[in-house]
Amino acid sequence: MPIKARVPRDYNGNYVQCRTFGHTWHIGNPEHESGAYYAMVLICSVCHTRRLDTVNLRNGGIVARRYEYPEDYLSGKGEGLARFVYRIEFVRRHVADADGE
Ligand SMILES: [Zn+2]
Repeated sequence: MPIKARVPRDYNGNYVQCRTFGHTWHIGNPEHESGAYYAMVLICSVCHTRRLDTVNLRNGGIVARRYEYPEDYLSGKGEGLARFVYRIEFVRRHVADADGE
């Protein structure tokens, strides 16, 4: 199957890493606590994306999850970039590094 998506050559290197392997989360300070809910904050140490999980303390369920991405993290509308595209870009850059380019 041919690759139709644009290879993100100009994409930030840290973002390519997260797009390839997933985020590297560490625990941030909670945003707020109220009643039976707790707002957990996770921050990616590589790209600084924030994940905000609202946890129901009664049953441990996550009632809401949202992400706050760096301004230029998300790909443009219609680019259709898939994980395998970032993986190819990651390998391309590391092959270039290994070759001393
Ligand atoms: Zn990340």
